[in-house]
Amino acid sequence: MNLLCSINDFNEAKQVIPGGVNSPVRAFKSVAGTPPFISKGKGCHIFDVDGNTYIDFVQSWGPLIFGHCDSDISENVNEAIKNGLSFGAPTELETSLCKEIISLYEGIEKIRLVNSGTEATMSAIRLARGYSKKDDIIKFEGNYHGHSDSLLVSAGSGCATFGSPSSWGVPQDFSKHTLVARYNDIESVKSCFETSKNVGCVIIEPIAGNMGLVPARIEFLKELRKLCDQYEAVLIFDEVMSGFRASIRGVQGYCDVIPDMVTFGKVIGGGMPLAAFSGKDEIMNLLSPTGGVYQAGTLSGNPIAVSAGLTSICKIKKNPQIYPALEALAKRLMEGFLKNAQKYSIPLQTCVRGSMFGFFFNTSEVHNFEDAQKSDTQMFAKFHQKMLSKGVYLACSQFETGFICTPMNESIIDEVIEACRVSFDEITRGI
Ligand SMILES: *Cc1c(COP(=O)(O)O)cnc(C)c1O
Repeated sequence: MNLLCSINDFNEAKQVIPGGVNSPVRAFKSVAGTPPFISKGKGCHIFDVDGNTYIDFVQSWGPLIFGHCDSDISENVNEAIKNGLSFGAPTELETSLCKEIISLYEGIEKIRLVNSGTEATMSAIRLARGYSKKDDIIKFEGNYHGHSDSLLVSAGSGCATFGSPSSWGVPQDFSKHTLVARYNDIESVKSCFETSKNVGCVIIEPIAGNMGLVPARIEFLKELRKLCDQYEAVLIFDEVMSGFRASIRGVQGYCDVIPDMVTFGKVIGGGMPLAAFSGKDEIMNLLSPTGGVYQAGTLSGNPIAVSAGLTSICKIKKNPQIYPALEALAKRLMEGFLKNAQKYSIPLQTCVRGSMFGFFFNTSEVHNFEDAQKSDTQMFAKFHQKMLSKGVYLACSQFETGFICTPMNESIIDEVIEACRVSFDEITRGI
C-alpha cells in the first residue's frame, strides 16, 4: 500500500495544525502509523489521496449510519442550502427534529439542540447542577463525555474518590467536584455518594463505546437508578454514541431504566455538527430563557445540520428493520473474527450492540476500564496496520468502537473476515 501523498499531506498539516489533526485520535498515534488523507467517501467505502480504497468501519466515528453520501441526506441538505445557511432565528425544522426524538425516547419531554457532544454533556451537567442545587458529579472510569473541564477527570489514585485532571490546563479545583466510579460496580457508586454527600448528578455511557465497546449490565443500571432516586441526583444517560446506533431507542431498546436526562450527538446530526441534551420538563424548563441556567449557541439548530439530522431520523423511523439487519452483519463480523482468533490461538473478546461492535485482544471478558487496559495494544497496532494495508479501515485504537452502516452486506463482511484471517496468519508467522 502506497501512502506517499498522505505522508506529504501529514507533514504539511503538522506545520500549521498541532499534530497535523483537528482531533487527536485521527493522528494514528496509538498504532504508530500515518493516517491516510481522505479525499472522498461513497456508501461504506472511503478513498484516500493516494488512490487506496477502504471499507470504512469508522463512519466518521459513528454518525453515518447510512454510510457516505446517502442520496436522501445529500438531497435534503442541498435543498436547505438554497434557502440560507443559518439565521440565528427559529425555524420549523428544529421543532420537527425534536418531536421525532421525543417520540422515541422515554423520559424526555424537551430537547435543546447544540453543535457537539461536548456541548451537550457540558450543558446537561450545568443544568443538572442547577436543578439539584448540588455541585458534585459522578462519572465512570473509561467513559468519555467530550472535553469540558469537569469531565476531563480520571480516577486518580483509585476509584470511588474525587478524581484528578486527565489533561493539563484543568484546574484541580474543577476536578475536585468530579468523583470517579468503576463501571459496572455499584458498590463503587455507593462509596462515591457516601464520600461526597453532595452529588447532584451521575453521568454514564449506558453502552460505553469509548473504552472499546463495554455495555453496562442491566442490573447495574437498575441499581444506579435506585441510588440516584435515593440521593436525589439527576441520572444522565450519555447516548451521544449509542443513541440511534445500539438500537432505534439507544439503550432503551435493551432495558427499561429511564434516566432523567439524555444527551445525543453523532447519528442525530447525520454527519453534520449537531447534538442535543434533553430531559423531563421539570428539569429542561430551568434552561434560559425560561429558567436561570444559561446556555446558548450562535449556530445551534442551524437548518443545514438539522436537515441532515432530520432526514436521518425520519429515514430510520421509516425503516426500523435496519437495526436487526445491521446487528446481524455486526454479529457475522465478530463471529468471523472469533473463529479466526481461535484458529490462530489469539486471545480475543468480542461484543455487539446493534450496529456497534468491539473486540479486545484480551484473555478475559471486559466489563470495566481496568479489564480493558489489560488488552494487548501491541497486537492491536499490528492488526490495525495489517487490515489497513488490506483495505479495511478500523478505528486506530484498541479502545474505540466499530460501526456497521446500511450500504454494507454479507459479502463485504466476509471479505473483511478473510482479511482478518490473513492478517492473523501473517502476524503469527512474524511477517
Ligand atoms: C463522541 C462522544 C462525545 C463527544 O461528542 P463530540 O461531538 O465529539 O464533542 C460525548 N459522549 C460520548 C458518549 C461520545 O461518544
